[in-house]
Amino acid sequence: MSMVQFSDVVKRFGDFQVLKGINLSIDPGEIVFLVGPSGSGKSTLLRCINVLETINEGDLVVDGISVRGSRRDIRQIRLEAGMVFQQFNLFPHLTALENVMFGPIKARGVSRAEARELAQDLLRKVGLEERGGHRPSQLSGGQQQRVAIARALAIKPRLMLFDEPTSALDPELRHEVLQVMRTLAEEGMTMVVVTHEIGFARDVGSRLLFMDRGTILHDGDPKTLLSAPPSERLANFLQHIL
Ligand code: ADP
Ligand code: MG
Repeated sequence: MSMVQFSDVVKRFGDFQVLKGINLSIDPGEIVFLVGPSGSGKSTLLRCINVLETINEGDLVVDGISVRGSRRDIRQIRLEAGMVFQQFNLFPHLTALENVMFGPIKARGVSRAEARELAQDLLRKVGLEERGGHRPSQLSGGQQQRVAIARALAIKPRLMLFDEPTSALDPELRHEVLQVMRTLAEEGMTMVVVTHEIGFARDVGSRLLFMDRGTILHDGDPKTLLSAPPSERLANFLQHIL
């Protein structure tokens, strides 16, 4: 069974069609990179998967559950799909540890003691076991984003969505975030990643999607698509970001 299945998905904002009939199937364990010009609909596509946006036409099924289902279904989808944003979005008044504990307690009904243990394990996994007591403002951008990844993992998702996770970071801090993502990929997590880090996509991706004006123009092996872009549009895009 697919982890994510888009069938003729249309998404509009007012009269503007942002997603123009998307068909896309993602299998468990795939590491899918989504690239394309600004405004092409990448974030919207990602946000439809965990129902931060509602679709207008077609169907979208996540781990067997339709985004057109009940509120209970939607809550379930949000537990299956962890999301990491460009701007970290941590709770500023909570420590790193408390940020990671929050989801399991609120969404999964885990006890505080159990959530604390899980959060400590996850902070260790992202290399921040020493930073649990720090608030976001006391952490670097790269550290904050690693806390955000730990927080997303704490709800035990089956799928991770990343929307330009390194775009807000200084170049020297990107590596530590990419390293955590690489480890997750190697552990078999299903991932959909929007990024301009083309080298990373080539190394880590099992699949590359090129989005242009609301459609998926190319869908294939990252190394093949990047070494011999099959269209002028992709070639142009790559020239502009490299
Ligand atoms: P990308 O992530 O590829 O840059 P987005 O998915 O953010 O693209 O946006 C695609 C298009 O949809 C853009 O033209 C953007 O202005 C528009 N858009 C995105 N979100 C909204 C919204 N909430 N309301 C209206 N238009 C939006
Ligand atoms: Mg975007």
